[in-house]
Amino acid sequence: MDKEQVFQTDKEYYMPVFARYPLILDRGEGPYVFDTDGKKYIDFLAGIAVNVLGHAHPKLVAAIAEQAGKIIHCSNLYYTEPQAALAKTLAKQSGLDKVFLGNSGAEANEGAIKLARKYGKTISSDKVEIITATDGFHGRTLLTLTATAQPKYQKGYEPLPGGFHYVPYNDLAALTALVSEKTCAVMLEPIQGEGGINTPDADYLAKVRQLCDQYGALLIFDEIQTGIGRTGKMFAYQHTDIKPDIVTLAKGLGGGVPIGAFIASNKVAAAFGPGDHGSTFGGNPLACAAANTVLGVIAEENLLANATAVGAYLKSELKKLQQKYPQLIVTVRGQGLMLGAKLTKPGRDIVNQCMEQGAIINCTAGDVLRFVPPLNITKAHVDEVIAVLDKVLALA
Ligand SMILES: *Cc1c(COP(=O)(O)O)cnc(C)c1O
Repeated sequence: MDKEQVFQTDKEYYMPVFARYPLILDRGEGPYVFDTDGKKYIDFLAGIAVNVLGHAHPKLVAAIAEQAGKIIHCSNLYYTEPQAALAKTLAKQSGLDKVFLGNSGAEANEGAIKLARKYGKTISSDKVEIITATDGFHGRTLLTLTATAQPKYQKGYEPLPGGFHYVPYNDLAALTALVSEKTCAVMLEPIQGEGGINTPDADYLAKVRQLCDQYGALLIFDEIQTGIGRTGKMFAYQHTDIKPDIVTLAKGLGGGVPIGAFIASNKVAAAFGPGDHGSTFGGNPLACAAANTVLGVIAEENLLANATAVGAYLKSELKKLQQKYPQLIVTVRGQGLMLGAKLTKPGRDIVNQCMEQGAIINCTAGDVLRFVPPLNITKAHVDEVIAVLDKVLALA
């Protein structure tokens, strides 16, 4: 197929739900991707915080090939070693106890909410309410788009599942007013990703933890975007001294192979028994082998330290651009390699122009440029993207 044929075929045969860029990606190498014309781009979106090792990392490629040659899938009616090993690593690294593996972020959150409901009912039959934050994002299934307190994702899908309540993010007074003995869980992102890289006040998450404890409500952290080293710690809550009762993961976990997880304390996980939840594909040996390799490489190649150091550098370079273009950039925010630059206007044109100049970033919440590159980038890669952005902003 030539380019026009790909565009045309997609238009004719794919559901029209994506506003795609006119770019056909063919392959990748480290932090770079190449289109079908062979044009090279530096990729600071990384499949939206997914390709944490960059593209075609030799160890990940080898692990997937090796596992594919052994066994790709078997039912969860049987044990596999990659799944047992991954569950142990995730439990140890999170400081929690029991893991369930699925295939996506929405599925991880769906499972976490199901578990929270089951657990709430062990305390009281009306302890079923879930509180989430406006501008959050938790997925696209009917339950998780209900947890996603943004009308644009919910419109047209009513009736929505019941029992959900919303508070503004980072607003402790609003949460204090809403939380009650009927609350079974409060679910939040430690930094809101899709909502615009919104970082809460330093003590917000700890205060939410206190409130949850006071009412016997579970605290669920959706770390689907912030997890797997993105903010410089394996889990973003590890920047604080609290931990959640349940944490959810997906995006970076498989380095690009679809996998999601939720991890809970023993106390909470005990609400599940045989038959209460399940998945055909979830935790299959191929996805687990990929995730085991991602976690291994993050440790071996010191990628948490790298995300911290290179993230701080990217942030300072973005702040320099903010000083140079104060009429365009309002704030630079985020942590580690999860950064946003809020603009004074919609960002789509800037994203398009960066793409033409060979740099892939994206824009979320309409006017926030988002940077979620691979965790193994260097300062030289940052310089490449900043040079492109400088050129584009000069003309914006
Ligand atoms: C991407 C994302 C999801 C949804 O993940 P999918 O794999 O697309 O279902 C949920 N929560 C957060 C915070 C995300 O960033």
